[in-house]
Amino acid sequence: MIVVMERNATKEQVEHMVQRVESLGLKSHVIVGAERTVIAAIGTKRPETRQSLESGPGVAEVVPILAPYKVASREVKPEPTQVRAGSLTVGAGVLGVIAGPCSVENESQIVEAARAVKAAGATALRGGAFKPRTSPYSFQGLKEDGLKMLATARQETGLAIVTEVMSTEDVELVAKYADVLQIGARNMQNYRLLEAVGHTRTAVLLKRGPAATMEELLLAAEYILNEGNSQVMLCERGIRTFEAHTRFTLPLASVPYLHHKTHLPVVVDPSHGTGHTYLIPDMTLASVAAGADGLILEVHPDPEKAMSDGYQSLNFPQFTDLMERCRRVAAAVGKSMA
Ligand code: PEP
Ligand code: MN
Repeated sequence: MIVVMERNATKEQVEHMVQRVESLGLKSHVIVGAERTVIAAIGTKRPETRQSLESGPGVAEVVPILAPYKVASREVKPEPTQVRAGSLTVGAGVLGVIAGPCSVENESQIVEAARAVKAAGATALRGGAFKPRTSPYSFQGLKEDGLKMLATARQETGLAIVTEVMSTEDVELVAKYADVLQIGARNMQNYRLLEAVGHTRTAVLLKRGPAATMEELLLAAEYILNEGNSQVMLCERGIRTFEAHTRFTLPLASVPYLHHKTHLPVVVDPSHGTGHTYLIPDMTLASVAAGADGLILEVHPDPEKAMSDGYQSLNFPQFTDLMERCRRVAAAVGKSMA
């Protein structure tokens, strides 16, 4: 349930109510909005809990949260959340652009990519050091060496680093280098991993599982939020359907749907969502038109030679051209780009 404080409630009254909530065996999340402060009280309630909280000082009302996800829900926080991580800002009217290769391959590749995407207008650099690959015989990533190369690229360009963490035991290591921890589609329902990134205070990009429903995605986000990490971005990266012409099917209705249900920003990945370079520009523009708060795009200095996902990577001129067109669509839908 949500304890809605009165507009003029004092800090002491909010703190008092947090203690009341916790003394009832519930977990509290304080959300300070532009209009009012609310305390989400999460856990199993007794029938008298609501009345008992309603009588508290500075409390306007206590209302149940109807959605199965609580902290992620718009009921708890009507204002959109803006996630900030170094050079990257996503949400609440700002379109963030994360671009770079699928995998970090060597230092010159990642530094060259970082410089090019920054010049074209990207606000963060992507690059996988730990790669989840369908085949155990495919390139698995450079691991910590790759993370160090990302750190060099950040030093050279100032771009925030977005990189995947695949297992709980690597969270500490990856968080040492990353500005944003990416949870890959295959790990969206790895609940111990979600809890582990929830314990950090590093921003998280949570990718939708290829067979996950919107509700499952939001409940996965809830695992992270429930551990106290509020810097969560959701990512639509395409789902598996009967259609075989595209690598995945990119359902853009999920953008306005998620905006309806959650305050968390929504990033779209047209690279994995389509799986073909020639489809990416149009689907990127469509994503922005649908209200995306961020984009994540695979860009490689020489896609033909890429060690992973070259067939869905843009080269530098293609990305530069796309950014120019993106700017116009963003302006048309009232979003600013850095
Ligand atoms: C990636 O971003 O390179 C990646 C592996 O994405 P996904 O988890 O969406 O497949
Ligand atoms: Mn990839």
